[in-house]
Amino acid sequence: MGLHTLEEWKAKAASLTYRNQAFINGQFVDAISGNTFDNINPATGETITKVAECDAADIDIAVKAARASFKSGVWSKKAPMERKDVLLKLADLIRDNLEELALLESLDMGKKVEDAAAVDIPGSAMFWQWYAESIDKIYDEVAPTAAGDLAIVKREALGVIGAVTPWNFPLDMATWKCAPALAMGNSVVLKPAEQSPLSALFLAELAQEAGVPDGVLNVVPGFGPTAGQALGLHDDVDCLTFTGSTAIGKLFQQYAGQSNMKQVWLETGGKSPNLVFADCKDLDAAADMAAFGIFFNQGEVCSANSRLLVERSIKDEFVAKLKERAATMQPGNPLDPDAGMGAIVDAKQASNVQRYIQIGKETATLVCGGDAPTIDGKGSFISPTIFDDVTHDHQIAKEEIFGPVLCVIPFDTEEEAVTMANDTEYGLAASVWTNDLSRAHRVADALFAGTVSVNTVDALSPMTPFGGMKQSGFGRDLSLHALDKFTALKTTWIKY
Ligand code: ADP
Repeated sequence: MGLHTLEEWKAKAASLTYRNQAFINGQFVDAISGNTFDNINPATGETITKVAECDAADIDIAVKAARASFKSGVWSKKAPMERKDVLLKLADLIRDNLEELALLESLDMGKKVEDAAAVDIPGSAMFWQWYAESIDKIYDEVAPTAAGDLAIVKREALGVIGAVTPWNFPLDMATWKCAPALAMGNSVVLKPAEQSPLSALFLAELAQEAGVPDGVLNVVPGFGPTAGQALGLHDDVDCLTFTGSTAIGKLFQQYAGQSNMKQVWLETGGKSPNLVFADCKDLDAAADMAAFGIFFNQGEVCSANSRLLVERSIKDEFVAKLKERAATMQPGNPLDPDAGMGAIVDAKQASNVQRYIQIGKETATLVCGGDAPTIDGKGSFISPTIFDDVTHDHQIAKEEIFGPVLCVIPFDTEEEAVTMANDTEYGLAASVWTNDLSRAHRVADALFAGTVSVNTVDALSPMTPFGGMKQSGFGRDLSLHALDKFTALKTTWIKY
């Protein structure tokens, strides 16, 4: 049972108003250039609204506002308990506006509205709450010096944080960056993805209502090579936190080197392996989660379990189970509670996924999917697609597709499975299904990944760090470790 019927969601969508200007220094403003861009609903191809197309000039004003607010101490020097109260209120406001935020996500980037209402929006509120609660529970350190010396090691806010986020979980990605940064007393300039700026702009308004002072959270919509680059190159940004593709992550490292050597933290691509051993106790649960791991959010998940490594003796049985599940996950109207999946974020991404499907069709065995249905002749959709008998070094098993495309790779031994799983430039996440405790630990230890899930997929919580090894990036979102990115350690040594 969904929250609403398709017709009810449609009616709610029709009554929405959109925040479509930049939010700078506590006010919604047009881009200096006056330019706007069309914000497209990928399920219909229709323009939702026109959004301010900001560039370097707007980024500069936002950074100046952030710097001024930081220097003023209005947030950075606020008592931790007071900052906590403000961010707790923001978490409540997100919950109060759950349906509107869920609709914005769905219209903007095509995900199922009911998924956004069940996962993304409650997740964002939970992350804000978790970081809010941490604020007055973190203590600094006194070093174990000799008598007559007192060395205090304090965590200090860095100053102005630039955040550049992707379109797959727009509100959650904004939250993963902004919540810990604001918790520590920084000011933020957020550049959301051009495909999905609406929830971040609404978030800015809610943050103001909760009591975040003007200039402390600025949201500047625009394109990557203009607004995103300007933030990366800005000399008065202390730290840049990014989630997106590996190629653009590398650009941010270059921007930092070309400008003020700002700290850069990257959460980039993935090609996560899911290893299913024949001793897995519950193959149905494994199949449910394997399907979820690649088809949830249309497969547009950086940690999607896109490589299924399955022991040969159970492969055919397991693939048959997956095929059954894929059949129940066919795309439909993202506002329809009964849709199996939503739309692909835009026509460009859909054609990119189709290109990989074409390569797969020429060289691997198509089990199901591969086509691009439409609704009333409109929209970017791709049905859940499974390729069997893929070799681990095949292009579709190596490159991140970022769509609902699963590669099944059979293996015979544990050693072979681990070697193939690790033979990738990425290292974000991995999953292991086995009933053998020793094997679970052995394989988890051997896998290069920021998170290894055993007998589940994509384990994630505010309590545990999330991030990658190798070219999946560095630095961690979530958990108290995320706070390290947005603080510097200051030693004050007193002789007495
Ligand atoms: P995806 O492939 O998932 O769209 P991108 O890495 O292209 O991921 O985009 C993630 C974020 O990076 C978005 O906010 C986008 O606008 C921004 N971005 C894209 N290109 C650039 C660029 N050349 N410089 C700075 N930011 C960019």
